[in-house]
Amino acid sequence: MKKIIIAIDGFSSTGKSTIAKQLAKHLGYVYVDTGAMYRAVALFAMENGYINKEYFDTQTLINALPDIRLQFQYNNTLGFAEMYLNDTNVENEIRTLNVSQYVSRIAEISEVRAKLVEQQQKMGQERGIVMDGRDIGTVVFPDAEVKIFMNSSAETRAQRRFEELTEKGQVVSFEDVLKNVQERDHIDSNREDSPLIVAKDAIEIDNSEIDKEEQFAQVLELVQKSL
Ligand code: C5P
Repeated sequence: MKKIIIAIDGFSSTGKSTIAKQLAKHLGYVYVDTGAMYRAVALFAMENGYINKEYFDTQTLINALPDIRLQFQYNNTLGFAEMYLNDTNVENEIRTLNVSQYVSRIAEISEVRAKLVEQQQKMGQERGIVMDGRDIGTVVFPDAEVKIFMNSSAETRAQRRFEELTEKGQVVSFEDVLKNVQERDHIDSNREDSPLIVAKDAIEIDNSEIDKEEQFAQVLELVQKSL
């Protein structure tokens, strides 16, 4: 059967990764979470003191980009690929609210985007991939056979993210999570390079009101048509 590229874009915490993982498992495709790559670069910048609440040394981060090595390694027990930054597993560290508070500013930098987009395009050379992010259908794979754009209300999304973080034992307030979701939406949608927009040929799905099974069935139908 021919192999295709499935691009899933959308706002933060819309459940992109849930649907992408389900699809990849169902089709035997590779799943790539591009947000994890931007998060790992943000972690690198934070750990090296290039960014904090008062300060952001963009140029030093740009100069350090060749020193950042990002890899996904599949974890059989977990059933998904974990993010490695310079050979260290950073899967837990990149999922904190602290990293979320800086990542969109890191993702505004064109040099960062160019490096990550190049790596993402290589991963999709053989097709047979489900990739989620903000610019997959518009920039990374404009020729993707299936493009989905996901949305839901900011409150629904913040609630989802709040539950995820508290389940992992992180102490956060719903208000801070909501504020972060709204801030990232704003930065991601308004940046100059590769803003979050709906690709012309994307199918939009608002999942505020539908459950996971119904959503998966809808998306699978689109994929099967394309196959
Ligand atoms: O998907 P996730 O919420 O983990 O992404 C974290 C951040 O990384 C986003 O808010 C956005 O700023 C950035 N991002 C991006 N382009 C992508 C994926 C993520 O700019 N393809």
